Amino acid sequence: MTTMTAAAAARATVYGYPRQGPNRELKKAIEGYWKGRVTADALRSTAAELRRTNWQELAEAGVDEVPTGDFSYYDHVLDTTVMVGAIPARHRGAVEADALDGYFAMARGTQDVAPLEMTKWFDTNYHYLVPELGPDTVFTADSTKQVAEVKEALALGLSARPVLVGPVTYLLLAKPAPGVPADFDPLTLLDRLLPVYAEVLADLRAAGAEWVQLDEPVLVQDRTPAELNAATRTYRDLGGLIDRPKLLVASYFDRLGDALPVLAKAPVEGLALDFAEAAAANLDALAAVGGLPGKRLVAGVVNGRNIWVNDLSASLATLGTLLGLADRVDVSASCSLLHVPLDSARERDIEPQILRWLAFAKQKTAEIVTLAKGLAQGTDTIAAELAANRANLASRTGSPITNDPAVRARAAAVTETDARRSQAYTERATAQRAHLGLPLLPTTTIGSFPQTGELRTARADLRAGRIDTAGYEERIKAEIQEVISFQEKTGLDVLVHGEAERNDMVQYFAEQLTGYLATQHGWVQSYGTRHVRPPILAGDISRPEPMTVRWTTYAQSLTSRPVKGMLTGPVTMLAWSFVRDDQPLGDTARQVALALREEVNDLEAAGTSVIQVDEPALRETLPLRTADRPAYLAWATEAFRLSTGGVRPDTQIHTHMCYAEFGDIVQAIDDLDADVISLEAARSHRQVARELAAHGYPREAGPGVYDIHSPRVPSTEEAADLLRTGLKAIPAERLWVNPDCGLKTRGWPETRASLENLVAAARTVREEL
Ligand code: GLN
Ligand code: ZN
Repeated sequence: MTTMTAAAAARATVYGYPRQGPNRELKKAIEGYWKGRVTADALRSTAAELRRTNWQELAEAGVDEVPTGDFSYYDHVLDTTVMVGAIPARHRGAVEADALDGYFAMARGTQDVAPLEMTKWFDTNYHYLVPELGPDTVFTADSTKQVAEVKEALALGLSARPVLVGPVTYLLLAKPAPGVPADFDPLTLLDRLLPVYAEVLADLRAAGAEWVQLDEPVLVQDRTPAELNAATRTYRDLGGLIDRPKLLVASYFDRLGDALPVLAKAPVEGLALDFAEAAAANLDALAAVGGLPGKRLVAGVVNGRNIWVNDLSASLATLGTLLGLADRVDVSASCSLLHVPLDSARERDIEPQILRWLAFAKQKTAEIVTLAKGLAQGTDTIAAELAANRANLASRTGSPITNDPAVRARAAAVTETDARRSQAYTERATAQRAHLGLPLLPTTTIGSFPQTGELRTARADLRAGRIDTAGYEERIKAEIQEVISFQEKTGLDVLVHGEAERNDMVQYFAEQLTGYLATQHGWVQSYGTRHVRPPILAGDISRPEPMTVRWTTYAQSLTSRPVKGMLTGPVTMLAWSFVRDDQPLGDTARQVALALREEVNDLEAAGTSVIQVDEPALRETLPLRTADRPAYLAWATEAFRLSTGGVRPDTQIHTHMCYAEFGDIVQAIDDLDADVISLEAARSHRQVARELAAHGYPREAGPGVYDIHSPRVPSTEEAADLLRTGLKAIPAERLWVNPDCGLKTRGWPETRASLENLVAAARTVREEL
């Protein structure tokens, strides 16, 4: 292996590209198909056209090897389920009747049949459909999609590399099928699954694929020896096949750690590693195993899931080091570009001096091509690009937007005391009881009330100039009046204003904070046809003026019951945005926390005695490696305490989280030092209450008694039963009565009925105390 040949052979590639098209054509076609307005043939041809456009765009940009199979009508893990024939029994009929409709039935369910469960793809905001496996699962190969797509790309005269979810990742992401014991270990199916992958690989080779990429992102998480052993066996077996393409095993989102020696030794032809977020660790580990002699290394030096311009010189330096460690080094993004928007050049509202800091999928592709060229042909061949890149980076480093002295000074002046309430929880609880005068088992909601068509119309009317700000505000006020009067009539104890003015719980604040950017076209797939436009934490964050006080005080003026102020917490603000990469996350969190602290303090000064700071993302942002978690939880909980630490002891701080599995972060939840927490729990109320109790959680808590994910109305008796079981774990002085989450996706009729029953249940159980 000589540096010269490794460099000369350098190629540009990517693992995947945004699927939906520049104007979300795929979303529109699929949703049209669901509604019966678009035929299956029309949908297929839209999809084929989008694939062709993506490949041609990549090839024209200079990508040497395009990915195939990354396209999906809904989700690439579901595509893998189809590829290995692991169709759940309840969907088999539908799939046999019609492959496309059966596919969508698995994704979305039907009147009669539940869909596959959906969950987050590692620590991204993409969601995949969880495979359901059991001891009776029979795998059968169906490579139709994968073969068709590689043939399409080859027919365009392109060099193409199919990308598949690898067998170890597929199994480890699965859960036991309904009826299968919870301790079922999907890895026991490995021997059954590998022959199916072998068949698919043979099909792909026959279709003309020289290389196939197998994605194994589970290997960047902590893995047991048994799991690492499964990886060893997988790649020994697949590598040992005679009739197969060359294999590239890819990992991303973090460092490979113990899995690196396993893959380095495996009889496969290439590895793809993350050199963006995990550069140092992967470099060291690669050097420690003596590099990858005889193998191809695909170096993911361009961050595939954030939106900042790459530091090309730094990447070239990394690539230069890597040249000595493999036979051939190619350049790529750290992961599929699925996780970033398509094209920053389409943003009209972002000022040019900020736009030059941003790189979406299209811009990242150009960076990858430039780096590959620089590597193969020498840096003088990319001198112009390097100069432009240096200027872009310098403009960002030197900008007043990223260096606001006032924000920096405030953040630097933060002390331990700022992040601590002036009294301990127990004393505060007494003060709050006296101040608020609430009954036992107080009732409340999580914040939002139904977002009706009229509200969306009002927002659209405002954007289109059909109504002015005053007209819009009148509509919001009318809605607040209705929400308050409903809650009073129903007999809720702590009211909310209903969040009618919010398009989204993160974007609403991002739009009002200096240093935060919104995009016009920055759509990223969240799941299926659902897309989000995450705002961008671009600069130092400050709050020019109060963001919510007006609405909360207006609501409070209509009632004598306490109205809860409602904010999104710092961790969630970061988790659902693109974050700065030029300072530690904790620093950004602290700036956001200080802006929120001003809001919290202003709410209190305006007479708000209950303030809720939502942190639904606290758990989902947990680092993939457990070793990294304590540091994360330290800054995350500090940011929360900083935002809420400035209020009087008798002001009650609530927080809210949307998941019932929190056993691993109970300590962190306690460290938030909130007075009350509401949690999603309608599916396992007893377990949530028990778990809190088991950890000695000392504060007030409201495990949800109304599952807001379904239009179903819980009966009074049902809710009362949940409360009775809750009381076995949490004493009446500390138990709250509330739904699982906000009501914005619900309709009014079921919301009304459910909350009436919830209040009735609280009254019933109070009588029994
Ligand atoms: N306050 C928000 C609401 O009620 C909370 C949403 C959430 O937890 N995701 O909608
Ligand atoms: Zn929630």
